Amino acid sequence: MTNYRQDIGAAEIIKALMQDSSLQFVDCNTHLRKGLCPACGKNELWIKKDEPWRVSCNRMDKCGWTASTRELLPELFTNFSEKYAPTEDKPHRTADAVMGFDRGFDLSKIRGWYEQASYTFPHSTSMCHTIRFYLDKEKTRYWERLIDKTKADGQKNNIGGKRKPNGSLFKGDAWLPPTVTLEDGDRCFLVEAIFHSIALYHYDYKAAATISSNHFPESFIKAHAGKGITWVLALDGDKAGRKGTIKDAKLLTEMGEKVEVLILPDNGKDWDDYHREHKLNKALIENALYSGKLFMAKSVEEKAYHFYQRHPYRTFILDFDSALYGIEINSGALEMDLNPRKKDDGESDPAPIDLSSKQGWDVFIRCVDVDQISNVYPRFLYMERDEIMEEQRYVFQIEYSNGNPSDIIGLEGTNITSPDAFHKSLLNKSRGGTFDGEVKQLKILRDMWLNSKMKTVTSIPFVGYDRDTSAYVFQQAAYYNGREIKLNRDGYFQVGKTGIKTSLNGVSITTDGEFKTDWLENYFKAFHWQGLALLAFWTGSLFAQQVRAKHKSWPFFEFTGEPGAGKSTALEFLWKLFGRDDYEGFDVMKATPAGRRRAFNQVSNLPVVIIESDRDDGTKDAKAKQFDFDLCKPFFNGRGTGTLGVARRNNDVEESLFQAALVISQNAEVDGSEALLQRIVHVHVDKRHHKPDSREVARWFERQNSSTVGGFLRKALRYERQILQVYEEAFQKYEAQFGKSEKIRNERIVKNHAQVAAFGDALAVMFPKAMTKDRQENLADYILKRAEAREQRLAHDHPMLEQFWESYHYMNSQHPTKEDDFLNHSNKSDQLAINMEQIREMCQKHGQEMPDLRQLKKLLPQGKRHKLIESGRAINSRHLGKTVRCWIFQK
Ligand SMILES: [Zn+2]
Repeated sequence: MTNYRQDIGAAEIIKALMQDSSLQFVDCNTHLRKGLCPACGKNELWIKKDEPWRVSCNRMDKCGWTASTRELLPELFTNFSEKYAPTEDKPHRTADAVMGFDRGFDLSKIRGWYEQASYTFPHSTSMCHTIRFYLDKEKTRYWERLIDKTKADGQKNNIGGKRKPNGSLFKGDAWLPPTVTLEDGDRCFLVEAIFHSIALYHYDYKAAATISSNHFPESFIKAHAGKGITWVLALDGDKAGRKGTIKDAKLLTEMGEKVEVLILPDNGKDWDDYHREHKLNKALIENALYSGKLFMAKSVEEKAYHFYQRHPYRTFILDFDSALYGIEINSGALEMDLNPRKKDDGESDPAPIDLSSKQGWDVFIRCVDVDQISNVYPRFLYMERDEIMEEQRYVFQIEYSNGNPSDIIGLEGTNITSPDAFHKSLLNKSRGGTFDGEVKQLKILRDMWLNSKMKTVTSIPFVGYDRDTSAYVFQQAAYYNGREIKLNRDGYFQVGKTGIKTSLNGVSITTDGEFKTDWLENYFKAFHWQGLALLAFWTGSLFAQQVRAKHKSWPFFEFTGEPGAGKSTALEFLWKLFGRDDYEGFDVMKATPAGRRRAFNQVSNLPVVIIESDRDDGTKDAKAKQFDFDLCKPFFNGRGTGTLGVARRNNDVEESLFQAALVISQNAEVDGSEALLQRIVHVHVDKRHHKPDSREVARWFERQNSSTVGGFLRKALRYERQILQVYEEAFQKYEAQFGKSEKIRNERIVKNHAQVAAFGDALAVMFPKAMTKDRQENLADYILKRAEAREQRLAHDHPMLEQFWESYHYMNSQHPTKEDDFLNHSNKSDQLAINMEQIREMCQKHGQEMPDLRQLKKLLPQGKRHKLIESGRAINSRHLGKTVRCWIFQK
């Protein structure tokens, strides 16, 4: 068993493992070692080079993580037709590769059982290779497995050939491995698929495949009837398999045949999966046989009988037919009846009775007492913890004996403290479930639920990156260390040893869309350098917290432009890349405090986009209500959404953190303090670069949705390590380069822009062809220009202040009396003293636009042209000879 697959693939797997930078393997002769364990984070992974089928963590007790190379490197186990095309001397090469490499079968055992054939898809000329097994000796009828392809209906199998006289291809038949014959008294497994039969053959079990689920091989059984064969029903562990088991067992019994039933755990694994994992062994089969007995029990008493033989407890609880029963065994009486004493001295001791015999059953049934304690079957799934809210719930699946579909409910700790509390919470949360058990029975149940290895699932109230586990968690998929993790059947993700899920439904992110790299050229055509800079920032947002952890900050991105310049199209498209449809951003001024809180807290390592919903309504009123972006300053370092009235965690000890990235999209530039303006990378879009076909090109982007382009997110997260690597190197480069610009003095501006430019380089990981070195450098040049413009912007006053001083000096020079400096009431030659009320009146008179006073008063203290000395001082006016309230500035 050890050297199967020897002729295929081991070297290729080793090569791929070494190339995967996230694993960090070191080649040590016969083994790869020191790989990075995704569960415990230690460099303790190892794998054997000549049998590279399973990677394991060396810390058996402390960690114990292990995964098959098939799970780790799924790409290696696809495209067999290309990688192993048949040749003249190896016409079965593709089929051999699948059977050996993918299925893990020992080719030396099964050679000649199958051949490589081909399947033509209906109504087309396209074909694919198949692995074909004949169903009869004459090779007229066959079952085959398609390689690398599926039929339109999702089927991977095909059955064909010349029909039997009764019109069918396989009705009544079963497939036995060609080298197997059934002898008198044999045990023969009945399995659903040929591959299951082959898997069992590797362990010397005889197994016949029924070819299709729900098919009873009547003629096959008849052909072997009366040989004393025990038929071991070993169908799939799922619902359909279990249903088929009941039906087939009945038919076999009616035919007078001996039957045993195996029930595999309902975990989606079948015989060849267990084979592939090296877990097909005696223990698995014995457990399945025991499960089969419990499953086939026709009464609670019979189930209790089988249970008791394995677990001889006096009292226990069993579920039967989706209800719960308390079982009491009168063990004293049972012992006595099983070991009868001789009646008088003259007789010899009677033989003890074997509990598993028919007589034993008769004894057992006299000594068992059964009582229904619940009309439903509550199956404990896991404990769910919300670390932020400090709440926890016990999650159960409730199965109903009346046939209702099952429910998943969450109970508080207090709900399972007493039978009465449990009874009430079942009534409240399930559909008519009750509990009538006693204290001691609830205790047995509670011990069963809580004392065995309990799964704890962390529930996070946002989507995206969870700092504690370093995993990205969305509704349907999670990503950890570049690997995709699917939601399990109980509704959470297993990340290493932690279970995690998001409790947020408001923001739905899908990651299963397509991703092609061919649209970048047109994206550039439609949105130019501004759009490319935005895409770089957008991509960087996925790693905002890793970047902040390393470089302390991640900038804000301001995306301004006149209406119709394509801002919305660009932003909506970028959201589609992240698996979110029909969304652009939210209007922070229109949001309620609760809505604001949600918007800033419900995503992590994703952008929060603030938009103006009234873009074309440039009324003064709307302007006056502009959002105070200074409140967002702490977000720069990932701190404090508390400033926005956001709930704090842990009784104010720790502030709620901003885990996202901020994008501001509006028509006009953001106002605010210098400290705010320093934190912004700003691009402005206009229609200048629009060409005649720009509109047409942009329309393509409008037509896309998350299913056509949303694979971007999946790829970016799978390449997390590579992207961050490129970013880190490029950041060093650009920080040095931008720092040399003579036009920039502010280090923060250098850093922010270098960060975005560095993610421009990292776009090459996503678009290896389109994101050429040239384009990376040109984008960096553009971003450097934006950095220089930002420095200029900081050196000058805010546009509103600039305009105010323009008006002031203009009006001062225009007064009809030509009185020198008539708006300046100061007596000092180096100061200006200005009365705001007078200015307002003059503005009206001269048809000058008077800025909003409230806004102005906010901006004046930051003024550079005339530095504010004091506001609202009463001085003696040199023009009026009386006291006037003035704002005093340096001249
Ligand atoms: Zn480990």
